[in-house]
Order: sequence, then structure tokens, then C-alpha cells
Amino acid sequence: MILATPGPVEVPLFVRETFLKEIIHHRTPEFKEILIESLNRFKNLTHLDEAVFLSSSGTGAMESAVINVVKKKALTINAGKFGERWGKICNAHNIEFKELKYGWDTPASVEEIVSEIKSGEYDSLFIQISESSGGLRHPVEEIAAEIKLINPDVIIVADGITALGVEDIDTTNIDIVVGGSQKAFMLPPGLSMLGLSEKAVERIGSGRGFYFNLANEIKKQRDGSTAFTPAVTLIIALNEVLKKLEEIGLENHYENTANRHKALISAIESIGLSIYPQVPAKSMAAVYFEKAEELRKVLKTKFKINVAGGQDFMKGKLFRINNMGLIDEWKMKYIVDSLELVLEELGIRKYDSTAIKAYNIDRF
Ligand SMILES: *Cc1c(COP(=O)(O)O)cnc(C)c1O
Repeated sequence: MILATPGPVEVPLFVRETFLKEIIHHRTPEFKEILIESLNRFKNLTHLDEAVFLSSSGTGAMESAVINVVKKKALTINAGKFGERWGKICNAHNIEFKELKYGWDTPASVEEIVSEIKSGEYDSLFIQISESSGGLRHPVEEIAAEIKLINPDVIIVADGITALGVEDIDTTNIDIVVGGSQKAFMLPPGLSMLGLSEKAVERIGSGRGFYFNLANEIKKQRDGSTAFTPAVTLIIALNEVLKKLEEIGLENHYENTANRHKALISAIESIGLSIYPQVPAKSMAAVYFEKAEELRKVLKTKFKINVAGGQDFMKGKLFRINNMGLIDEWKMKYIVDSLELVLEELGIRKYDSTAIKAYNIDRF
């Protein structure tokens, strides 16, 4: 079965091989060296001064950012399930917030956010870079730059779980960026990461919470240790993934990902299907399709390809194909070609290899 969902993504063999080695103790010089190495590599990737890893899925890092950063009131952006989550976290902790809501296909409005921030009520903004529910890219860099012009003390927290490792994120005006292991980092689930600016560390102060107290973790991890037992095997594997991406060259990796995305989108459009979001994120192709569930079923049973469906009110109306990680070229070609074959199977369009042609023309 080809796992073509936009998280979890397939775990390459070189990553799985790291799990065959003997487990090492986390309070050893060996592990300390690996932890520091991988934190440094992660800092290099996020262009931020500080980094912290947590043993949790991505949502744990989102929760830690919310509870440690908001001292007054948060502004949260909701254009999908993950944006909605900021508000749910605030509610769970009785943290004051206001939510700006957008359609799942609609990027957040810079003007609207700016006018909200001008009220002076907010000390933080929470947003997704790539909102995975609709495969949408928010103009986070622009929003962050505008907010910092108005009030540099507003801490900008960006969920980069389906953006880090996909494209180079300009974090000049971003204070915290959140990552998760099972998306573009090609690892099994269970590790989350945060990149932090000095300003974010200042705001966190002595921190809040217990397990997710970021002040404790920052202090420990600066010295190559952790407050609690870390996800040792995942951190070792992350170090190998980041090493591999550096070998390939981050710029080359981003360029290849962007090019494959362009080719995938043009293949999908060439067979009459439409891309759902107004501004597509490079992490995936999210396709609006009324027979999405039938299509996913045939893809899975006949072609052994697992793509994601829609969530919530988009269930049955959307399917999403992953574009994160080091995807074997033959696999993407097979997915594109199979997609066209499924349309014939569903009686929608006669197969004439249009999709794979469009893909190949744009790909190289
Ligand atoms: C996957 C994902 C998350 C985190 O989900 P977990 O299941 O907690 O790892 C958060 N934000 C976005 C945009 C995601 O795609």
C-alpha cells in the first residue's frame, strides 16, 4: 500500500533502519551529542535562535505554545480543523481569545487581522502556515510583518506542521514555529518541535504548565538534556532526516518539492478536476470532488494507494494527496496515472493518459 496521505507520510528505509539499533540511555554523552546536533540542524531549518523538542504529537507543541505565550489575550485564525484547535486549547485552559474565521478555501485577510491587532487587546497571534484541512496556504509572513510594524510585542505563533521541511519559511517576523514528526520530517508520529525567537523566550518567562512548561525545556535542552525522558529513537531518526536533507541541500529539496507540486496540480487540472483552496499550500494537492469517497475507495482497493479524504463538513467532497517528504518519483507518477484511471472507472472521463503527460511536461 502506498501511503499518500498528507500526514502521516511514508517513512523511508534509511529512517526505519535507525530503529534497528540498540536503544541508548538519554542521560549519556552519546545522546547529548545527538540531541544538540539535531536541535542545531532544526534551528538552521527554521532560521530561529532556539529550539525545543517535545514527546507528543504536533498538537502538544501547539498547546505548549498557547499556554506559555498568552499572558493577556490571543487572536486565533480558524480556516480549518487545525486553526479551530487554537480556540479549543484556549478554552481548555480558560485563556481569553478571539477567533477570526475563514472558509476552508480562503486565506486569512491581512487587513482584517491588522485592524483587529490595532485594538491593542492582543499579545499574541496563532495561525497555520499550511492549513491541512483544505490544503490552504495563509500569507503568514506578510501578516507577521504587518503586525510587527504595529506592535513588535505581539508574539506570532505559526503552526508549520505541514510547512516546515516543505518550503523555506521566512521567520524574520515569526516568534514560534511548530513542527511535527509524521509530516514533512518523514518520521513516525510522536515527536513535536518548536523553533523560538529570543522574544518568544522572553515572553515565556518562567513558563506555565508542568509537562509542557517551555521555560524548563528550553533551559534543559540548551545544555543537551531534557526535563523528562525524550523520544530518543525519534530524535536520533530526526537527526538522520535533517542530515539527509542537508546532503541533498535544503534549497534543492524545496525546489524539487515546489516543482513536483506544480506538476501534480497541473496533472489534476488537466483531467477536469479542481483544486479546492484559493491559495494551495505546497504540502499537498486538495481536490474538490463530489465523489471523493468512491474515488478513494477505488484508489485503495484497486491501486493500493491511500489518499486522505475531507474532514468535518468537507467529508465526501474532498480528497488530498501528499506532497511532503522524499517521494519516489515512480510513486507520484503511478498516483497521477491511477487517478485518471479511476475517473474512467467512475464513468466520469475516458482514460487517454492526459494526466501523466501533463505531469511529465511540468516536472522536468
Ligand atoms: C497534523 C497537523 C497538526 C497536528 O496534529 P497531530 O495529530 O497532533 O500531530 C497540526 N496542524 C496541522 C496543520 C497539521 O497538519
